[in-house]
Amino acid sequence: MSAAVGPAADAPFDLAEGRVVVVGGGLATARICAVLRRKKFRGALTVLGAEDLPPYDRPPLSKEVLAGLRDDSALPFDVEKLDVDLRLGTRATALDTASRTVTTTAGPVEYDRLALATGAEPLTLPGEGQQLTLRTLEDSLRLRAALVPGARVVVIGASWIGAEVTTVARANGCQVTCVEYGAEPLAGALGAEVGAATRGWWDGVDLRTSTAVASVEPDGVHLESGAVLPADVVVTGIGVRPRVSWLASSEVETDRGVLTDTRCRTNVHGVVALGDVAQRWSSRTGTHRVLEHWDEASTAATAAAMSLLSWDEGPMHDPVPYFWSDQLGRKLQYVGAHGPEDAVTVDRHPDGSLARARWSRDGLLTAWLGVGAAKDLVAARTAVGGPLADLG
Ligand SMILES: Cc1cc2nc3c(=O)[nH]c(=O)nc-3n(C[C@H](O)[C@H](O)[C@H](O)COP(=O)(O)OP(=O)(O)OC[C@H]3O[C@@H](n4cnc5c(N)ncnc54)[C@H](O)[C@@H]3O)c2cc1C
Repeated sequence: MSAAVGPAADAPFDLAEGRVVVVGGGLATARICAVLRRKKFRGALTVLGAEDLPPYDRPPLSKEVLAGLRDDSALPFDVEKLDVDLRLGTRATALDTASRTVTTTAGPVEYDRLALATGAEPLTLPGEGQQLTLRTLEDSLRLRAALVPGARVVVIGASWIGAEVTTVARANGCQVTCVEYGAEPLAGALGAEVGAATRGWWDGVDLRTSTAVASVEPDGVHLESGAVLPADVVVTGIGVRPRVSWLASSEVETDRGVLTDTRCRTNVHGVVALGDVAQRWSSRTGTHRVLEHWDEASTAATAAAMSLLSWDEGPMHDPVPYFWSDQLGRKLQYVGAHGPEDAVTVDRHPDGSLARARWSRDGLLTAWLGVGAAKDLVAARTAVGGPLADLG
């Protein structure tokens, strides 16, 4: 990341009169607003959110909301108590860091300090057919209505979202086909050896691995082999990309996401980024990483808020990463960060299915995955970075 550009470091930020603008409207936004007020920021706090809803939580969208167990997932966000000027349906379209102005669909908005929390957007495949994706509450309710008994559902991608959608579709009595490019489910995220130990979970689903999709057309999913999978519903769950395109003409440095240091600071003085849009430096891996997990969006808010209030004095934020997934009747929990070269040890249940996986490099534990093993999570998180043998 290059040295700071834009307005030079200025006088200390005025906690009573300063103006903070947060561009976003999800978990990271809700959290940073709460921390700013907790840290005695009394100035103007404005949130610019593209959606028409106040901040809500996304994990339930592929779980309880999709399954019909609840209809919304609002986050605690008391506009009056937080004294937030919440501007919904307001999309940021450009940023001028020299004049400290965000251009939006509702006109320009000036700031003294700015937080970027625009999250990520789902990737889709070529073709003219309808592809449902799952990012918003609206997406979840639309998909929920389509997952009726007997519906021919093709899920593209056997990773986190694909497996969670498959869980609900299968429970609803849909005919589910899941097409996965990799050799095993979850192979992209966890590697083929670990993914292979989850195969048995896909009972009742036509799981087609090592299968490439060419396009999604009105008559179904066209495979590169030339075969066509007819479908009433196509759900594409092949990953997301951080929402950075609106920053293209700005001075803010991006790669896949917005590049930040461990204090969530971008290269521009007074501008931080957090959550799924950020590509944060991690001294654990020696790389900038896009984490795309709930825990990161939630916990980065403290460092990001503190950097806004006191640019050079905020705390470092570089925790052991954590995420979970509820899929095919199991709860998976992962801590750490493994690389493709790390050695992996897979423990299986007597029926051959995945119980636990541990990754290591040079004898040190880099990551741990447990299935239905919540009681071991804290110990595993503590053990990451230490000798593999310490975990027992
Ligand atoms: C269906 C689903 C299930 C998930 N399940 C899990 C799970 O089980 N475990 C886990 O660890 N993580 C899970 N996650 C990931 C987790 O929810 C995200 O990491 C988290 O939501 C990131 O929060 P965020 O605030 O950074 O981004 P988001 O929640 O995406 O919020 C970004 C907000 O910014 C708004 N926005 C975008 N562009 C603009 C713009 N230009 N102007 C104004 N506003 C804009 C968007 O509309 C959105 O409201 C899941 C995500 C999804 C979608």
